[in-house]
Amino acid sequence: MDKSNGVDAPTLFGEIGLTYDDYVLLPGYVNCGLGDVSLETELARDLRIKTPLVSSPMDTVTESKMAINMALLGGIGIIHCNNSVEEQAEEVRRTKRFENGFIMDPVVLSPKDRIADVDRIKDEHGFSGIPITENGRVGGRLVGIVSQRDIDFEPDRSRPLHEVMTTELVTAPFGITLEEGNRILKESKKGKLPIVDEDYNLVCLMSRSDLRKNQDFPLASKDAGKQLLVGAAISTHSEDRDRLAALAEAGVDVVVFDSAQGHSVYQIEMLKWARGRFPDIRLVAGNVVTEQQCVALIEAGADALRIGMGSGSICITQETVAVGRSQGSAVYHCARTAREHGLPVIADGGVTSIGNIAKALAVGASTVMLGSLLAGTDEAPGEYFYEGGVRVKRYRGMGSQEAMEARGGHRYLEQEESIHLAQGVSGTVVDKGSIIDYVPYLMQGVRHALQDVGVASVTELHEAMREGRLRFERRTPSARAEGGVHSLHSFQEPHRWSRSQR
Ligand code: GDP
Ligand code: GDP
Ligand code: 5GP
Repeated sequence: MDKSNGVDAPTLFGEIGLTYDDYVLLPGYVNCGLGDVSLETELARDLRIKTPLVSSPMDTVTESKMAINMALLGGIGIIHCNNSVEEQAEEVRRTKRFENGFIMDPVVLSPKDRIADVDRIKDEHGFSGIPITENGRVGGRLVGIVSQRDIDFEPDRSRPLHEVMTTELVTAPFGITLEEGNRILKESKKGKLPIVDEDYNLVCLMSRSDLRKNQDFPLASKDAGKQLLVGAAISTHSEDRDRLAALAEAGVDVVVFDSAQGHSVYQIEMLKWARGRFPDIRLVAGNVVTEQQCVALIEAGADALRIGMGSGSICITQETVAVGRSQGSAVYHCARTAREHGLPVIADGGVTSIGNIAKALAVGASTVMLGSLLAGTDEAPGEYFYEGGVRVKRYRGMGSQEAMEARGGHRYLEQEESIHLAQGVSGTVVDKGSIIDYVPYLMQGVRHALQDVGVASVTELHEAMREGRLRFERRTPSARAEGGVHSLHSFQEPHRWSRSQR
């Protein structure tokens, strides 16, 4: 075979397992500007997002702060389950509440409640614009609104709200569209717009700050009600059926079955049950790395598959249990199988650079799940600290001894086991600053990659790969060395983004 223009994907992955670093994409014909490259993609069946990134359900990566910001940037965060059911549901609620079209269940107080009650709501939820109804509930007659400026300088926090609330209100009638409500909010210059029925009973609320959020984050991943999309992980233990029910109640959009080896009787039973019970929640099954595993989970009702076994940066599965697959091969083979059934896959783990994200997408992934790359950001749980003069955050495998001891680790820890085998390690990652800067930087790199191989979207990239137009080449260890920085006395690694680069 003439290999002067590289090889196609089936030839590349024909023989042995390859990691992202084992191959490179060959250039195509650049036929569009960088700004014309679209990274819109499918996260799960019939669910599209504009940024192909997912933050991993790990307790050092994703809680609501990460989930909110990932969704604002067009990706999605998956809240980890190394916590109580109530804690996890609360993280989901926080993410869903962050931005709204109509706020359908606004927090409401009554005229007899006190300023201290508003302070408490501010502490708990972060907002203090509170409609006041006669009975203190949604559906009650609207009599006023309290906002921060009504109570800012009031020393006596026990004063009742009817003494401080604003009673001259701009309201809108129930039935108006979001566009009309937005126009009234803009013109009236008010912070809140209560929506009332013909008897002046409060139906719902709109907030001016949501207009700003919508404008500042045009890529944001949202549901039909303009609330941010959020995912949450559950284990496949039967008691997590209650967890799933609580997450559904909290408004979760996507549930990820967190299992290192997804092809199991436990996951298949859980999937079938969840499929029947929660038809509107997207179910991401996994983890899988072979065609046989994929087919089993697709037939049980999965809406997307999560691909990867043993490739994570904190992971020692392949060393300890000898099972897994090189990530490039796993993604390629599974994406091909999933596509035949109309499903997208998430390439999970092992991403160490922008180039790896592009390579995962190039071999068929629709989104890429990140752990270590996001663990050192402001939005990840945990505080920064110094290690040898470098500012770092903790990052640990969910199957590490430490994470298993901190509860959970269901994924790696069977209850009946008397000897616990760690499948992950704990460590640190360097401070990267906020994902508000970091994710757009990563995505700009991916746009360059797509432009250079001659496609203008992730969809086109996948088509080019399937049709053999996207060309690849295997890399020898010395080709890898050549492709990296070499022959310098010292240098600053460009892809090790750190706070100082902002
Ligand atoms: P769609 O995809 O056609 O629904 O378009 P958009 O979602 O971009 O916007 C539809 C309308 O809703 C426009 O008037 C937007 O400004 C407005 N909108 C979008 N998101 C939000 C939001 O989170 N809050 C509010 N209040 N309005 C929003
Ligand atoms: P406030 O002026 O202190 O109420 O706060 P902002 O207007 O800056 O922010 C309110 C944000 O919280 C908006 O994005 C709302 O969509 C969101 N939010 C979610 N639930 C509620 C609620 O029950 N009441 C209010 N006021 N805001 C809510
Ligand atoms: P990273 O992006 O850091 O390379 O990989 C993150 C991924 O590693 C996670 O999304 C998850 O699939 C996987 N992972 C997380 N914790 C563990 C662990 O303790 N052991 C193993 N084998 N994999 C883990």
